[in-house]
Amino acid sequence: MSAHPQFRGHMLIGGELVASGSNKWLESVDPSTEEKIGEFPAADAQDVNKAVSAADNAQPAWAALDISQRAKYLHQLAKRIRERGDELLHTEVLDTGNTITPMRGDIENAAWQLEWYSGLATEMKGETVPATTKNLHLTVREPYGVVTRIVPFNHPLMFAARGIAGPLIAGNTVVIKPPETSSLSSSILAELCQEVLPPGTVNIVTGTGMSTGDALVRHPLIKRIVFTGSVPTGMAIQRSAAQVGVKEITLELGGKNAFIVYPDVDIEKVSNAIVAGMNFGWSSQSCGSTSRVMIHSSIYKQVLHAVTERVAQIKPCNPMDPKSRMGPMNSKHQLDRVNAMIASAIKEGATLMTGGKRPDGKDFEKGYWVEPTVFSDVQPQMTIAREEIFGPVLAVSSWDDETQVMNVANSLEYGLTASIWSNDITRALTAARKIQAGTVWVNGVGTHFKGTPYGGYKNSGIGRESCMEELLSYTEVKAIQILL
Ligand code: NAD
Repeated sequence: MSAHPQFRGHMLIGGELVASGSNKWLESVDPSTEEKIGEFPAADAQDVNKAVSAADNAQPAWAALDISQRAKYLHQLAKRIRERGDELLHTEVLDTGNTITPMRGDIENAAWQLEWYSGLATEMKGETVPATTKNLHLTVREPYGVVTRIVPFNHPLMFAARGIAGPLIAGNTVVIKPPETSSLSSSILAELCQEVLPPGTVNIVTGTGMSTGDALVRHPLIKRIVFTGSVPTGMAIQRSAAQVGVKEITLELGGKNAFIVYPDVDIEKVSNAIVAGMNFGWSSQSCGSTSRVMIHSSIYKQVLHAVTERVAQIKPCNPMDPKSRMGPMNSKHQLDRVNAMIASAIKEGATLMTGGKRPDGKDFEKGYWVEPTVFSDVQPQMTIAREEIFGPVLAVSSWDDETQVMNVANSLEYGLTASIWSNDITRALTAARKIQAGTVWVNGVGTHFKGTPYGGYKNSGIGRESCMEELLSYTEVKAIQILL
């Protein structure tokens, strides 16, 4: 498959590649040009019901397989993802606007996750509990049944693959819901799952959040929901789920992540890290981007100057160009949000250092383009200091008092990631313990180290992913009391 205006994607239900029952379609556009690149099915509640029923029917036979048999299927799927990697990569870049060179990592990661979770599977152990001396008290871990994973637009394939890996190896079957602005790669994933897996093991339904997503959340056969997306949608999912049943929900939500710079750091290194932490390769549409930079006043001017210089050198261009360091925003909605945030920063008195507008030139007349942007003199009460932008806007401020800067860093509803820079180990570790965030880098930024847990404090989420805890979260614990 390669995307073109006439391209029509498909869903995967019960081992069949299908359109929606209503034959309604949604459009995908290339965010660089706003040109149509294809269509995909708009699933309604009836389609969702078919997908969940297919998953439910397939689950007992899937769970009855030994782990080594399930692992073989997942390894085969990983192999096929790599074999169709170029096609997946081009579709994903065209559909998301993320730049091609770092996106190669997404394809490899998608395949790797399937292998990695398979390798962990025999660690899903129960326990024996010495509750009495006479009897035997033990626990076993059992799959929930059908798990749904609802995926955001920034890394659709990589998140979908993770949504398959852990639940499947734990003996569940799965229904995936891709994001409505970037669903095309899920058509290829559907073909690969159809080819490799028993029918119904993985089902993929495309459509809007309000229709397809909500129907999944409310489906009575789905008890286990995994959601990655924004805080308001996460809260809506909790509300909808609670209206129909008692459900186990993992929420991987947004962030407004602090980057705190102490006075004793290397200016060059920290400036490079501040830029790297913004993930400009996907136009900063990354939950973990450290977009709130707080620099000690003694080095504020130097670091701000170095960062501004580096960001100004990032020229947005076609994300398919291997040298591209930043593409467009994913959608008009995202562009409008970024522009509104830039306008609010100017109105509220922040200083625009670079960027802040659509790039000049013919190539940028259409498409969801904005320049990478740096604001300085940002005050804690300003909107750009408090709200997730999910775009290439860096908010820089200075500080003098260690207690005060930590209070400001911890004053928001978010708590996803943070970066602390200091060469004083006591100071760095004290700050790392004080900051309210699920991931803290000390003298580093951005990297997701494989096998380490990822997830948010406060309104940034519930639960941890990419770790053993995630795998165990796809199982329920049963206590068996054997009376002797
Ligand atoms: P979003 O919340 O708008 O949508 C995410 C997904 O939820 C989409 O598939 C959408 O169709 C679906 N959805 C929307 N409304 C729904 C509803 N009522 N019921 C069920 N499903 C619904 O998020 P987005 O704009 O796609 O992604 C950006 C957000 O995701 C940012 O806030 C970002 O920080 C967050 N994010 C978090 C992580 C993490 O690991 N913590 C990773 C990536 C993105």
